[in-house]
Amino acid sequence: MGRGGAVLRQLNREKVLRVLAEQGPLSRSDLLERTSLSRTTVWSIAAELLDEGRLRERPPAVHGGRGRPPWLLQVVAPHRYALGIELSSEVTRALVATPDGTVVSEVVDEAPPDAGEPLDESALRRAAAVTARCLERAGPSVEICAAVVAVPSPVSPGSGTVLRAPHVDVPHLLGLDRLGCEVVVRNDADLAAVGEAAFGAGRTWRNFVHLSLDPGPGAGLVLDGALYRGRGFAGDIGHVRVVDGGPVCWCGNRGCLSTVASADALRRGLWTRDPRTEREAAVLQRLYRDDDHGTRGLLLDAGRALGRAVSSTVAVLDPEAVIVADRGRIPLAPIREGIEESLARFVSPASRRGLPVVPGTCRERDIALGAVALGLGLVPEVAADRRETPAPPPSPLGSTSRSTAQPASPNSGSSTARAAATSQPRAATQASS
Ligand SMILES: [Zn+2]
Repeated sequence: MGRGGAVLRQLNREKVLRVLAEQGPLSRSDLLERTSLSRTTVWSIAAELLDEGRLRERPPAVHGGRGRPPWLLQVVAPHRYALGIELSSEVTRALVATPDGTVVSEVVDEAPPDAGEPLDESALRRAAAVTARCLERAGPSVEICAAVVAVPSPVSPGSGTVLRAPHVDVPHLLGLDRLGCEVVVRNDADLAAVGEAAFGAGRTWRNFVHLSLDPGPGAGLVLDGALYRGRGFAGDIGHVRVVDGGPVCWCGNRGCLSTVASADALRRGLWTRDPRTEREAAVLQRLYRDDDHGTRGLLLDAGRALGRAVSSTVAVLDPEAVIVADRGRIPLAPIREGIEESLARFVSPASRRGLPVVPGTCRERDIALGAVALGLGLVPEVAADRRETPAPPPSPLGSTSRSTAQPASPNSGSSTARAAATSQPRAATQASS
């Protein structure tokens, strides 16, 4: 190739990257149309960029035609790293990873048995040390462009307040304000769904429900390729009643999903154990392997409860798949069996038909990898942000019906609450997804 040819080639490569960055993922044929380059050029440049790791391929959203659907090409921004931190009662995990999911540094700290709540000051101090070690391991050449913290709590979309610990400044206590990059806090179940969407089982679908029960029950909703957060409580299924007259939950109600399908509930259900010598997860695994009838029943019941709690969500949203987190601590087969059983019972056969219930594939890293994926804008998010509430539309009953003294209740179901559901795709997403 002469000098002119090389220059032209470089210009064409830039054109392909620019069109993909501006217009989002495209198939090769769409790229052909929008770049006006020749077929040979587009195909060979795509192969070259895929080889170099500048592009990646992903399945299309919908496919109506016959044959293998054309996969989409997506830009992978080079040399971008995000920090993902998972805070839970069981473990603190900090990792730094790139847009292709390569983990360049990771530190995991199992919580001691006497550890308090993960959002307590002492727990956050430990987590800050874990984070610092992780960044140190990544090295000074790794520039973090975003940090995302996963917490076991709903998070307000507008203010970013951690609703179960509203006065705790999590990023500050973790020492993240020193990083000089965007830092956000999100719900852990939401991020587990994002992790699967970006790097795991969720890559196959644009619409799925992701379920976890370890440590607590939670659901994450990925709709049209984006995480749906609602007003901060979307997928917060832990306090849906699944047992009439069941045990009293810490929230004050009875028979909540949390009382049946959580690591804690399973732990309480297991009374044949010696806490001094074995961790509960290990006991669960051992008893299940030994074909212990009671343990199997306990797990099956947890799965049934989870399936029941999520059945109306499945009926309403009609997702393409249900993904169940598989963090390797709780035997998943009976949980999935229980979920399938409840879906068969509580959802119409038509909605249930062709709906796979599959395990996640990101394993114990799903939450932290989801944090990275969100930080890098690989998966956009949609939430209702009450700070940006537009003026409510005129009331059909006339302009005088809304008294100024009337408090704006978030749960009133009024037009204000509905109008607040503004979509806010992340700025970073535009360039990379
Ligand atoms: Zn409850």
